[in-house]
Amino acid sequence: MHLGENCVEETYYEILSVKEDASYEKIRNSYRSAILHSHPDKINSSRCSSDEKFLKIQKAWEVLSDAELRVVYDNGLRCSRQDGITADEISIEDMSVEINGEGGIIMELFYQCRCGDYFSVDSTELETMGFGLLRDGDCVLVRRLGAFVASVVLPCGSCSLKTRVLVDSDMKIPL
Ligand SMILES: [Zn+2]
Repeated sequence: MHLGENCVEETYYEILSVKEDASYEKIRNSYRSAILHSHPDKINSSRCSSDEKFLKIQKAWEVLSDAELRVVYDNGLRCSRQDGITADEISIEDMSVEINGEGGIIMELFYQCRCGDYFSVDSTELETMGFGLLRDGDCVLVRRLGAFVASVVLPCGSCSLKTRVLVDSDMKIPL
C-alpha cells in the first residue's frame, strides 16, 4: 500500500462517502449506491474519468469490506497523517530573530516555509509555553522556564504546513 505519497489523495472512506468508523453494512450500502452512479455502462459522457472513478470505488470496497485489510489500511492512514503534521523539524537556533516593541521587549522568531511565508512565534507566546528569551549581546539566549515539552509546533502563516521546533535551555539564536 502506498500511503502518504500524495497528501491530497482521497481516502477510501472519502471515495465511498462514509465516515471512518462506519459499519460494514453502512460501507456496503454506500458502495452499492456509488457503483450505481458511476458504473461505466451507465455513463456515456466523460467515459475515461468515470472508468477511473469506478475502479477507485472497487478498490476502496475491496479493502474496506475486508476486516483485516481495513485494519491495515487504517493503520497506514494514521501513520501518513502523523507524517503530515509537521513538514520539517528545526532547532530554534535555525530561526531568525527580530526585536520589536518599546525597549526591545518583544522578540519575534521566524523561519521561512517552503511556500515563501513564515513560521513565526514571539517571545510572549513562547513564555506561555514555558520558554523565555533573553537578549545576551549579539544573540538571544533560550531559557526553559518550567516547560514540560522540548519542542513547539508552529503553523505557517499561509499554507497548511507545520514545523516542529526543538527548544532547549542555552540554545543561542544569533541576532
Ligand atoms: Zn507555508
